[in-house]
Amino acid sequence: MMWNVEEFVRAAGLTVDELAAYVDESQRGLPPVIRRRPPHELAERLGLARWMREGGMTPEGYGEFLHAYLAEGTRLHHPAYLAHQVASPDFPAALADFVHGAANNPMAIYEMGASAATVEFEVLRWMLGKVGYGEDGGGVLTHGGSLANLTALLAARAAAAPDAWTDGVPGDLALLAPESAHYSLTRAAAILGLGERAVMPLDVDGLGRVDVARLPDALERVRRAGRRPMALVANACSTGTGLYDDLRGIGGFCADNGVWFHVDGAHGASALLSEEHRHLLDGIELADSLIWDAHKMLRTSSLVAAVLTRREGDLDAAFRQRASYLFYGDQGFDLIGRTVECSKAELGLKIFLNLAWRGERGLGDYVTRQYATARRFWELARERPGFECPYEPESNIVCFRYGAGDQAALRERLMEDGAFLLTSAEIGGVRHLRITVMAPATDDKTLEALLDRIAEGEEPIGG
Ligand SMILES: *Cc1c(COP(=O)(O)O)cnc(C)c1O
Repeated sequence: MMWNVEEFVRAAGLTVDELAAYVDESQRGLPPVIRRRPPHELAERLGLARWMREGGMTPEGYGEFLHAYLAEGTRLHHPAYLAHQVASPDFPAALADFVHGAANNPMAIYEMGASAATVEFEVLRWMLGKVGYGEDGGGVLTHGGSLANLTALLAARAAAAPDAWTDGVPGDLALLAPESAHYSLTRAAAILGLGERAVMPLDVDGLGRVDVARLPDALERVRRAGRRPMALVANACSTGTGLYDDLRGIGGFCADNGVWFHVDGAHGASALLSEEHRHLLDGIELADSLIWDAHKMLRTSSLVAAVLTRREGDLDAAFRQRASYLFYGDQGFDLIGRTVECSKAELGLKIFLNLAWRGERGLGDYVTRQYATARRFWELARERPGFECPYEPESNIVCFRYGAGDQAALRERLMEDGAFLLTSAEIGGVRHLRITVMAPATDDKTLEALLDRIAEGEEPIGG
């Protein structure tokens, strides 16, 4: 039952060799970015049933399995990976995953991992500093942005209705959010017991950005409906378009009207580290709560998200009737009071090792570069006939259309032989193709190849 340490060393060595080859060929764009074998074929090819029935895997058998397993997966280091907003992970964070897998210190209580807990605490302090909350802020790392949004809104609910924890949820709460907000916010409203119907849409412009001038109308609608605003949500940036809301304008309105201001910075808060793009988050310090995913633009594996609040007590009140405070004293501290999870992974270590290796500057440069590459795609696409780009990108997310045909079918064609992987999104009810530039390997050559590939075999707009 105990580890055979020699066997572990051999298997771990093989893992490193396989992963090194995998990332190397992926970065160079040699194999397809995605293979789309049907699941029954995959189960067969990987010998899943046999392994599970018979066991007996050895380092050698495992090496072969891992090789096939990686080859059939999706390559996030590949230049043609332009799809979902999950990190092309950097290796220091990968090392943290490996360490956690072996040492397993679920540190929601201090005695289950003093070093892991302290690392998380210090990483959170660093994040709070970047946001501009300073010493009064509070935070916790949680398993993903969806859980982070739920946690932040729990804190908002505790502020609006402190007795909801013990007595249940009053029926008059409302959540104000643009329709472009991530679906996890509507879900959170339902999970929190407000009901989906309590989510009242904010007025937006044609690209889904909150219209600051019309915020008073929205508040008036909420009041006329006999409700109280529990929180108002802004995107930084929005998932679909990658555009940022005017945080200073919205934050000022919320402060003037006593409305809890929640910023969903899952994707875009990392721009705080970029000299060139930090201005997009101007006013973020006005937010009462904020979420910030590390597994998007801080290059850790899934999932690590920070929930940050301007006042520490607000976060402590999320899961109980009355707030208490964390003390960083001789006895340590327990983060368990701030999370949905009971046991929780050593999430802070992933962020810490990326920071320790690359520095704040290196992570910021990554954001700057990815945002610049997306902008470059926009410039190149605009120069070509048949491409329609509805807006100038502000992040590493770009939406566009080519020709008058079915964009979903066009996407299928691009992915057919695994040449490219991209997504699509609706803007104002119209389907667009969408790229997110996540891999550092994506360059001008990739972008030109994508544009060539799209244009071949399709009629441009207007014939
Ligand atoms: C990705 C994303 C989320 C959800 O985060 P997960 O970590 O995938 O749960 C929430 N909001 C925005 C704006 C996002 O981009």
